[in-house]
Amino acid sequence: MDLFDKCFSWQEAEKAKEAGIYFLFRKIESAQGPEVVVNGKKLIMAGSNNYLGLTSHPKVKEAAIRAIERYGTGCAGSRFLNGNLDIIEELEEKLARFFRKEAALVFATGYQTNLGIISALLGRRDVAILDKYDHASIIDACRLAMCQVKRFKHNDVEDLKRVLEGLPKDVGKLVIVDGVFSMEGDIAPLPDILRVAREYGARVMVDDAHGIGVLGKGGRGTAEHFGVEEEVDLIMGTYSKSLATIGGFVAGPKKVIEYIKHFARPLIFSAAIAPPLAAAASAALDVIVEEPERRERLWKNTKKMLEGFKRLGFDTGNSQTPIIPIIIGNMEKTFRMCGLLEKYGVFANPVVPPATPPGRELIRTSFMATHTEEHLDHILWAFEKAGRELGII
Ligand code: PMP
Repeated sequence: MDLFDKCFSWQEAEKAKEAGIYFLFRKIESAQGPEVVVNGKKLIMAGSNNYLGLTSHPKVKEAAIRAIERYGTGCAGSRFLNGNLDIIEELEEKLARFFRKEAALVFATGYQTNLGIISALLGRRDVAILDKYDHASIIDACRLAMCQVKRFKHNDVEDLKRVLEGLPKDVGKLVIVDGVFSMEGDIAPLPDILRVAREYGARVMVDDAHGIGVLGKGGRGTAEHFGVEEEVDLIMGTYSKSLATIGGFVAGPKKVIEYIKHFARPLIFSAAIAPPLAAAASAALDVIVEEPERRERLWKNTKKMLEGFKRLGFDTGNSQTPIIPIIIGNMEKTFRMCGLLEKYGVFANPVVPPATPPGRELIRTSFMATHTEEHLDHILWAFEKAGRELGII
């Protein structure tokens, strides 16, 4: 048997391309702003995680350029040995201060951060207790850790309690939830999760990739939003959303961070974050503090779009954040909707299984502080026109 046979006979992508319903790997020819250019055509972006619009902020760009001038483009090795720059450690100190934790640890991507934390902390007997909608990187991390995995119904604290009740007392337990769920835009009920976890001696980790810069008065995310920053044991985040670049971090107690630092294989056996990226994340963090008006604008835009979509009759699930799913519930219609949106000048992302449960196919929209009223009105116009043509509204 030839291992490659399955590749040669796999035709799904080609068929979708022929049918004009292939919307993956769209080639963007411009910066990631509220408008993008795809195949020479200007589209209004309704599918970016650049929530605060900082990828084009002059201070962030300038910091990256200055870092390249001083350190060059890469570290040429792992932080463990030869790649640990002073600016990476400075970023760790800044992150720890910002998230009000004793220490923080920087990784090269958010995906690696989850892999690193979870595989360092959980052994074969330990149990990761996951929300059913947790991000794929958390699930993959549990595979790397080879730990036990239990799952509870999405945002259902009673079900979490049921799962915890069934676990032996003498195993390590970590409840892991997204702060803001990446496809549904709803928020984890952290105070209740913390209460139940404590009752059963479990630690709590929040993946706040989509909450940082967005939620909380100071932009410190879901824990700040609920006033439970001290209680959450580990806050994990990425720089690939509000923090304008790529990379990740975990913040928590000093001894735990020190342990992860010496046992996280994705940190040890992979090269350090590149200097311009560390510098960009650091500058973006400063802008989050200095320009709270960006967050205010983001929430104004979010409110307008949530109300606008609902007024048109779309199902937006339980979204409470700038991630607003438009639930279609049918694969073909989801792709056709995306095609029509593109025709009407809007870039939005189709989300189908396995990224969402079967029957919950959706268009994931997400909004930015830098969208203008005109951009948002155009997006609503395009959704209404496409939605009516397909009989969705
Ligand atoms: N966690 C969540 C909730 C995410 O949405 C993502 C990225 N989509 C990640 C982790 C991985 O982050 P990164 O893209 O920085 O690798």
